[in-house]
This record gives sequence, C-alpha cells and structure tokens, in this order.
Amino acid sequence: MTRQLLRCLIVCLFFVATGAVASAQIKPGRDANQPVDEEYTQKIRAYTTEPFFNSPLTDYLPASPDVPTPKAVLGDVAGAPGKLPYAEEVYRYMRLLEKATPRVKVYTIGTTEEGREMIAVAVASEQLLAHLDENRARLTKLADPRMINLNDDEADKLVAASFPIYYITGTIHSTETGSPTALMELAYRLAVDDSAYVKSIRESVVTLITPVVEVDGRNRMVDIYNWHLAHPGENVPPLIYWGHYVAHDNNRDAIGLSLKLTRNVLNTFTGWKAQVLHDLHESVPYLYDNTIGDGPYNAWVDPILTDEWQIIGWNNVSELTKFGMPGVFAHGNFDTWSPGYLMFIAATHNGISRLYETFGNAGADTLERTTSPGEYQRTWYRQNPPLPKAKWSQRNNNNYQQTGLLTSLHYFGNNSKLFLKNFYLKSKRSILKPKNEGPAAYVFPGDDPRPGNQAELLRTLQAQGVEIHRATAPFTVNTKSEPAAGRSPNVMVSTGPAPTTSPSPIPSATPSPGTRTFPAGSYIVRMDQPYSRIADALLDYQYWSPNDPQTEVYDDTAWTMGELANLQVSRITDKKVLDAPANRVNGDVRTAGNIIGSGSTYLVNHNADNALVTLRFRLKDATVDAAEEPFEAAGQKFNRGSFIIRKASADEIQRAAGDLGIQVYAVAEAPAVQTHALKPARVAMMHTWINTQDEGWWRVAFDQFQVPYAYISTQDVAREENLKAKYDVIVFAPAAGDAALIVKGLPMYGNPLPWKTTSLTPNLGKIDSTDDMRPGLGWSGLMNLQKFVQQGGVLITVDDTAGFAVNYGFTPGVSIARANRLKAVGDILRMRTVDVMSPIAYGYADSLAMYCANGPIFNLSNVAVGGGGRRRNTERFTGRGGPTDPDIVQGRPPAEVPESPKAETWEAMPLTAEQRRYSGGMVIPAAERPRVILRYADMKDLFVSGLLDGGDEIAEHAAVIDVPSGRGHVVLFSTNPMWRGQTKGSYMLVFNAILNFDNLNAGRKLNGR
Ligand SMILES: [Zn+2]
Repeated sequence: MTRQLLRCLIVCLFFVATGAVASAQIKPGRDANQPVDEEYTQKIRAYTTEPFFNSPLTDYLPASPDVPTPKAVLGDVAGAPGKLPYAEEVYRYMRLLEKATPRVKVYTIGTTEEGREMIAVAVASEQLLAHLDENRARLTKLADPRMINLNDDEADKLVAASFPIYYITGTIHSTETGSPTALMELAYRLAVDDSAYVKSIRESVVTLITPVVEVDGRNRMVDIYNWHLAHPGENVPPLIYWGHYVAHDNNRDAIGLSLKLTRNVLNTFTGWKAQVLHDLHESVPYLYDNTIGDGPYNAWVDPILTDEWQIIGWNNVSELTKFGMPGVFAHGNFDTWSPGYLMFIAATHNGISRLYETFGNAGADTLERTTSPGEYQRTWYRQNPPLPKAKWSQRNNNNYQQTGLLTSLHYFGNNSKLFLKNFYLKSKRSILKPKNEGPAAYVFPGDDPRPGNQAELLRTLQAQGVEIHRATAPFTVNTKSEPAAGRSPNVMVSTGPAPTTSPSPIPSATPSPGTRTFPAGSYIVRMDQPYSRIADALLDYQYWSPNDPQTEVYDDTAWTMGELANLQVSRITDKKVLDAPANRVNGDVRTAGNIIGSGSTYLVNHNADNALVTLRFRLKDATVDAAEEPFEAAGQKFNRGSFIIRKASADEIQRAAGDLGIQVYAVAEAPAVQTHALKPARVAMMHTWINTQDEGWWRVAFDQFQVPYAYISTQDVAREENLKAKYDVIVFAPAAGDAALIVKGLPMYGNPLPWKTTSLTPNLGKIDSTDDMRPGLGWSGLMNLQKFVQQGGVLITVDDTAGFAVNYGFTPGVSIARANRLKAVGDILRMRTVDVMSPIAYGYADSLAMYCANGPIFNLSNVAVGGGGRRRNTERFTGRGGPTDPDIVQGRPPAEVPESPKAETWEAMPLTAEQRRYSGGMVIPAAERPRVILRYADMKDLFVSGLLDGGDEIAEHAAVIDVPSGRGHVVLFSTNPMWRGQTKGSYMLVFNAILNFDNLNAGRKLNGR
C-alpha cells in the first residue's frame, strides 16, 4: 500500500469514528440573555484583522458584575497590540479570578531554576471544584486499576461518577508569546460565559491551565519586547537564553527530566490524574494540530491513544473549518516517534497528548505576514490552507488558540465518559503488559560495575512514576528469546586489556544455557504496573529503518537509556521474573556509601560513576592521586584511575561517601603503584553569543554533579590575554555554528545588541552579559586560546567546536572527511576503547554506547600539513590475474614490490621513507601526535539504536582524540557525551579529562613510526 493510500484510509476511518461519537448539538455562540462587555468586545473586533480570523466562540466577551476581565491587569484586552504580560502579571490576574469566583482555583506547582513560581489554574463549575478530592480518589483508581482488581464493572461505576481533567500548558517556547493572554481570557470565559456551549464545558470538565511553562524565558522575552518598543526601528537582541539552560530543547526533556519545568508539569499531570496534556506552540500558520502528525508513530504507546489523537484532532479541524477559519489542519510532517516532548508525558502515562502550532508574531506587534508556498498551498491534509499574505495580530492568534481549545474542551466534555473509560483501559492494558505484548520486566543486575549511575537512572524512572523492586535473593529466568541480549556491551569481544569493572565482583552462579541468574540486590522494573509504558519506551531499543518513507526526521531517533547510561539492562519476557523474591523500593533508589577498613589512606575504585567527580571537587583540600595501573588492596581489585585520598578527615570522607553513595576503603598504607595528582582544576565553560542551546545541556551536567566552572563568553576570551593564569580547562561545548561564525560573530550592521540588566530589561544579563552580542571570538580570541593550550591548558571541544579546533589549526594531524551518505540522526552507536591507559578512559571497559548526530569523521596523519589523513587508495590497476594478484610487466623479470604501509582506520599511516626525507619539517614529533582514546566500532557492531544509514563512512574512525599541543592538550569529541541529560554513561569521559587535566599524557606509549 502506498503511503498516500494509507493516509487516506486512516483519514476516512476516523471520520467514521468521529461520527460514531457525535457530540450533542449545542450551537456555539453567546447566550442572548447574558450581557456582553461592549467595550471589550469592540476591541476584540478592532484588533482582529479579518472577521474570518475569529469565531462565534471568541468574537464577544460576556460581562460579569463581579469578575474582572484580563483588562484589569493588561489595561487592554487579551491579544492587544503592544501588550505582553510578565508571568507575574498573568498570575496576578489568575488570582484576581480566584478571589472573584468560586469557579477558579490557583495552585503553586513548583519553582523554576531561577526561583520563579509555576502555577496551575483549575476552572470548572463550583459543583465540580467542590468535589475535586472525591473525584481524584476515583480517578486514582482508574489510573491504577490494581486498586479495583482490574474489575471492569467497578471501573464503569467510577467512570459514571467521575469528571475528567484537561490540562493545558502555554508558552514553553519563549519566542512563542501568545498563550498567556489567550489562557487568561479562556479562564475568564470558562468561569463567566453562560452560553450553553461554554456552560457544558464548565459542568463536565475541569480545565487545568499552566499559562506559562518556561517562566524564566517568558520574562526575558517580555524584556526583549519592551526593549523593542522603546527602540523602534532598531535591530532587536535575539533571545539567546530562553530558560536558564536550554532553548527549544526544554520540549525534549520528557525523557531525562533534567529541567524543573518538566518535573513540575509531570507531577501536576500525574498528581491530578489528568486525561489530557495539551501543549501550545506558535510556529506554524494558522492552527496545526500536530499530535496526529505523521509516521512513524512511537512504537510503545497504546493504539487506543493513537485513535484518540485522530478522533479529537479531526473534530477540531472540522469545527474550525465550519466556522470559516482558514488554515486549520492536522497531519503535516511532524513524526510522533520521540517521547521527549512535554506533551508526551500524557502519551506515556495513559493520557492523551495534544499539541497546537498556531501563528505567532514573536511579540505583540500587528504585522503583514507572508507565508511560504509550502505553507499556503492546498494539499490532501490541508484543504483550506492559510492565506499567502495577511495582516496578522496577536489577537488573531489568541482567537485561534481559544477557539481550538474551546471546541476541544466541548467535544471532550461531551464524550467524557468515553475518554474516562479509555483512560481506565489504557491503564489496565499497561498493567497487563507482561501477559500481552511483553516484556515481563527489565532487570538491572545487582552486580553492575556502576551502581551510582544505575541508581541515578532508576531514580529518573521513579520520577516518571515507575515503581522499582529489588530482589531479596538470586533468581533465574529464561533469556533464550531476548533479542537485545546480543547487543549488551558486556558480551563484546575484548581487544585489549580492559579494566576490571568492580572492586568486589559478586560471583554469579553458572547459568544453564538460555537462562540467566541475577544476584540478590538486582533491581526489577515490573511491567505489570500502570506506568509500565514509559519504562518500556525508555529502556527498549529503537529501530528506524533507513528505508522509512518518512525522510524528514523531526528529532532524535534513539534514547535507549540503559545504553546511554553505560549500564547493563536486561529485557526479560519470561514471566517467571515476576515471581522473583523482591520488595518494592520505598523512597529514592540510593547506593549505600561508607568506609570499610581502617587507616588514614582512602581508596575509591574508578568505575566511571559520575559521583567520583563530585567527590573530588568536594574534597578540595585533600590530596587525591590517581593510580596509573590497576592494583589490589584491602582484598579488592581497583581499576586504573582509582583514587588514593590522603589528608582528609575520616568524618569528611564518611559524610561524602554517604551523601554520594560511594564505597571507600580505608587502608594503613597507600598501594605501591605509579600515580599522579588529581588537582581540582579551574574550569571555564566558554559560550558564544550566537547560540547557547546545546551547551546548556553541558551546564546541566556540570551543575548536577557539582563541577565548579566560570561561565565565560568568546568575547571574554578575546579580551583575556593570559587565560592560563585563570583557568586549567576551557570547555567549548557544541555551539551550533560553523568555525568562521564563531570567530566572526554576528554581522556588525546597525545598532549594538545589548544583553544586560537594566530597568527596562530587569531579566536580561545575569547568566552572562554584554554591551553588544555581535562580536565573536575574533583573531585575538583565537590567539589567546592557542596560547592557553601552548602554556599547558586543556581545551575540550565537541562536534562543531571540534570542527572549529581542527579548522583553525589547533590539532595538527587531524582532518575531517566530508560525509556523503552518512545518516546518523540522533542515534546511538557503539564505540571501542583504543587506549585504556589514557586517563580519559579511566573506569571504562572496552566498549561504550554514545549519542551521535552525524559527528565529524576524523582522519589522522603523522604529517602536519598536507596528506590530510585521506586513506591511500590501495585498489590495484587493470591488469592480469585476479583482484589480489600482482600484475606482470612483460619482457622483464617481475620487480619486487615493497610492503605498503598499513594502519587501522583510526590510526595515522606510518611515515614512509619518502615522507621522512622530503617533508621532514612537516612530520609531527612523536610526542605531539594525536592519541586516539575511543573509536567508532567496526561496521558489524556499530549500530546500537535509532537510525543509521551509510555507517561505513564513520565505522572504525577515531571518535575521541587527545591532541597534545605545546604543554597543553586539545580534546576532540566526534560524538556528544553530554546531551539532554540522557547520556550520563559518557559524562565521565569529560570529567576524566578535567580531573586529569595536567597529566593527560599518563600511560602514553610513543611510536616513532
Ligand atoms: Zn514551539
């Protein structure tokens, strides 16, 4: 079946489905007996640029003698030109509503990274709000059908007595500015409007509203807009910081849960036992219900949900089309594969995820907007497309948002019993997972060498609402049919001396073939629980076919959390696992940390647990050395890189071990092993003024593990001639710009672009500030940075900033090959450890899965200039014999061919005698040649999860390189070790480089070839 046909079939099917649950016929529009607020209504009409950009639901505002309209705070109507309220103003209005009517209640749901409040506003009839607690008790049983023994009759009774919760979230994306005013007015309408249409919503659904999700970013955006109003005609500073850490990626955090806004919305959604999470965005004309989206759909959600997307979405499109509003559509090219979006919290927790893209002007100006042909042309899913050109106002946007939401709420309220029953069914089917599709459980073995990272991932699952059990005795399960087992890193064939993985390996019983015995203490994530779906989605492997008809991948294609955390996770289909003796873990999963033995020297095994870096910086006055070889002490085996701590008090060590969950061994005497000092490095994180989105995830990682750093910009580096006097390590995380842009910065046309705290812009500055965002690193910055490395500094670069370092001559001998076919779209690939002696590899075994997004393809050469590492063409010329036979020149004896030099793909070719003779000055001295730490695995082992095509272009190439330069080092990453709080298994590569900053040459074997 062709893709088009399939689409048509889906559409037809769901028109039938919508018909089957047709809503009661209530005419949308005002109640003739209720007076309207004439002045407000007049302004709505004045600010709406065309009558067809409005609807009978929003072209008036009912009047109320007691309840204030948004004008009370805004001084004008919602969506008025020039009016963009701060979050606090939106809250003030919501609280005015709460005071004025029993139909509104305001709740604090948490704070942001910068300490600002987040709220949720409940709106419904006073009867519904008076019975919230009893209703929640009923919804709790529907959400966890184990409480009613999965009894459908009981569920039906609960459904009959319950009312649903529809949760709406606004302005997660700070440049998309319309939702707060639309939601202020929506709350007013829901509380006040006596039309039959709105009344039926109020009496059947609790509408829960978080009017501002990204509060920190909202307030900065309002500052920017106010600056723009005060500087008419000038270029506006771009909103470089949305949230404290990241920009649009705050809507990719529903996997890793690193941001407070994600946790606050998640807790609100699950705490209220809501049925819908409807997230509002504004980047597509005029209203795109993109939840229905396009394939491939996420493979772990319940088909009941994907049907619900269609049912509600198509009703929405149909209703707004009937109102005569152009540009309302569904489908489009958004695939629904990744579970990382905020709305997906509902999809993975038995609710309904929904998302609107409406049309915003990034501010409150009314503007002439021209859409692109791809936007205004009619296509099968957009029969009434947006106009090619129209005057567009924030009020138009607010009309569309509110009209869409009101029709959704009305439809949902009319069919509330259907959706509540579906909510129950989805929850029940999640519990029945082991019996139906499986698996039965995921097991985290009790002898994993990285208990700290294991506990960290389990806590993330707990934050998702997942229950964790812990085995009280060993148990054996059938693993014969476990497809993922072959990909487990611990079955990789070792190529070199791998470090031992645990200081105290627990001997596991020899299992019979096809079975596996897990030790006591293993963690079991049972799939017979209400939120099994999110655990399954996060722990499973992803496969996106290179031949998928979807060619525009919207986001990452893989997120397998066990692999990214460098942990062993076993997917078990054998239902016997559910009978394993185990207890539910109460409270957070934590590793026990204490001191074993006695003595004033303390030993800590290096197992690549991230807590080790926290420990080092916490014990800032202690002497900490790293062992350069594995050793045995206190009856334990310790890996290369293990910490030997002296000059620390037992109390301090005990406290740190307990807090961080680290096992410490006290001994009387330090082991006899080669060591070097781990001094607390002075770290700087350098950002550009062009983009801080991706480096924000690095700050998340550093802050989480309490690695102190100075936050500096390329402009600071341009000014600071003696960087080495201040810093030991400069981290240049991905900057989303090419090398030239990093140096040049933004064009210097027009006016300066300040990012500063002023009375007009009280929320700008702070994270960092500048009088003018335009200048980049410049030539002086480039020189200062190179001097920093020459004087002994360590520069850490990643992906595009690694490209910057290579292109600007920081790393002689490294070049980057152009990718022609490689498609590694946010996937997970296998790396192999090449140099286990390098401090960067401390704690790692011989293989590691890493996040990859078409990273640079590195080639190495022993010659600094020319010969850029391109592989020698060794294919033979046309001649006699087969492809591997020598040709024979006729009429003379065969000449002896000298053996041609050979090297692995990740290595530099050995120097030839010719090169030594003729390019002597270009040959890189042995001590300054790039040292490869990790490489991409061979083609057959490379793919782990997601979408990989053309992988042979990058297979076997170097992935992490330490390039000595002068007295310092440049570290190059092709993969991104710190991404979206999901890649905690590769954080330690970066932390190792920081911990060992002045001894990165440890264990280095020089090769003069
Ligand atoms: Zn958006």
